[in-house]
Amino acid sequence: MIAVPAPSPHPSPTLPPLPHLPELPTGPMRSVALVTSAVAALVLLTAAYLATCRIWPYANCGRCNGSGKSRSPSRKAFRNCKRCKGTGRRERTGTKFLNRHKTH
Ligand SMILES: [Zn+2]
Repeated sequence: MIAVPAPSPHPSPTLPPLPHLPELPTGPMRSVALVTSAVAALVLLTAAYLATCRIWPYANCGRCNGSGKSRSPSRKAFRNCKRCKGTGRRERTGTKFLNRHKTH
């Protein structure tokens, strides 16, 4: 009696099994699912960042570190920081984005 190996109905030697990602489909649909979840995560992160920009719209001015003063070399006299005009703050990138897309 000769043992003949049963032919596999769907031979796929190029695709190894993915034991740690069982919920994702295999083949081209797998990359689509990966891109979709990556885009969803990016949208969520951006929404969270814009929400913090709405609550805390400003950050410290990078030149004067939030003091609003540009000190003289003697450290006794100062003038208004040129970059922030003495306010000591700058608008965050997300704040500029929100202001640009304001509806009113
Ligand atoms: Zn400044």
